[in-house]
Amino acid sequence: MTQNAFNAGLCAFLDRAPTPFHAVAEAAALLDARGYTRLAEDAPWRLAAPGRYYVTRNASSLAAFTLGPRTPAEAGLRLVGAHTDSPCLKLKPHPVIKSQGYWQLGVEVYGGVLLNPWFDRDLSVAGRATLRLPNGEIVSRLVDFSAPVAVIPSLAIHLDREANEQRAINKQTYLPALLACADDEDFAFDTEVLGVLTEEDPALTGAEVLHSELALYDTQSAAQIGLRGEFIASARLDNLLSCYVGLNALINATALGNQVFVMNDHEEVGSGSAAGARGTFLKSVLERITGGGEDFARAMARSLLVSTDNAHGVHPNFPERHDGNHGPVLNRGPALKVNANQSYASTSESLALFSAACIAAGVTTQTFVSRGDVACGSTIGPLTAAVLGVRTVDVGVPTFAMHSIRELAGAADAFMLHKALVAFYGMDNLGVG
Ligand SMILES: [Zn+2]
Repeated sequence: MTQNAFNAGLCAFLDRAPTPFHAVAEAAALLDARGYTRLAEDAPWRLAAPGRYYVTRNASSLAAFTLGPRTPAEAGLRLVGAHTDSPCLKLKPHPVIKSQGYWQLGVEVYGGVLLNPWFDRDLSVAGRATLRLPNGEIVSRLVDFSAPVAVIPSLAIHLDREANEQRAINKQTYLPALLACADDEDFAFDTEVLGVLTEEDPALTGAEVLHSELALYDTQSAAQIGLRGEFIASARLDNLLSCYVGLNALINATALGNQVFVMNDHEEVGSGSAAGARGTFLKSVLERITGGGEDFARAMARSLLVSTDNAHGVHPNFPERHDGNHGPVLNRGPALKVNANQSYASTSESLALFSAACIAAGVTTQTFVSRGDVACGSTIGPLTAAVLGVRTVDVGVPTFAMHSIRELAGAADAFMLHKALVAFYGMDNLGVG
């Protein structure tokens, strides 16, 4: 596969996954097409080795795995992790606001959104709705308005002369999204949601939307940009880029061993949920794979998790925000992330094992550690390591504008990380003498 073909697939995935629910559905479709068997958490599992399986939780987290000829207790597991969620604006449960002759949608800020870039974008609405059918059955369905139906207009500079010097954003009053002129008396957004759903599936006619989890997203497609096409611009690069890379590394792994790929929801808000990395999802899956008890403990002691989440590239306009020796540059390979205070779980041994995979794949690496006077972000790596007791290394492709509505990554880096993870999945020995 070429880098261009890989990036075309990545961009299509980014566009088709406006929410974690859609990311999981896209990943499941890819796995279905590759012959993976779908498991349900509430059913008994009869796993066979060799075999390929996947399971989801809350339809927003997914774990896929393959089983090789040797048991996990004997051979360990090669794990790759990522997260499905991105900072965004989520609709409030009763979102409709009428103001100055307009219908608007009230929003709640999800995670650490970089708010300024959300203004003046052509926004759509997507997520999950849970409905009651006429026969009383409760069902959930994915929702995507697809078209640009909303916008958060900026205030003109003439009405805010200080905007370029000091623009603070009030999260309650500045962010309601403009939806329509309010010539009508009543307006129910749930009716619009149902309209989108019944257009796709007429069988839902007569259903009632009981509750929904919807978010705004930018309708601008992911694109390869730059004078020489060296960059990828898109929403949700953090962390759908890693989701796509990890998922395809599992699918493209050369030897069938004990390989796991997990993508968890709720990383951007601390991972403390049933579907999040602090929750029981992955541990439960691994206990069922290994048989639990001593076999689980033995398997964990022989395993390695590569936690993939984007890193901050050193910005040419703001080089002083990075440590002088640790400024990852776009298109020079994945960054190995280190933090003495365990915001990243990397150790010399986990770093060395991942570096060995990179060397085998011909992939260069860089190192990221935050400045002493800049707070370090965190990720699923240390949380998963704490839950499982598994050796973990935190890595990720360098990006600009993290948590903006449009982030920027290097066009070479996703493919390089993919090659490194394919090599990692194929590693025969994770021992350190
Ligand atoms: Zn992230």
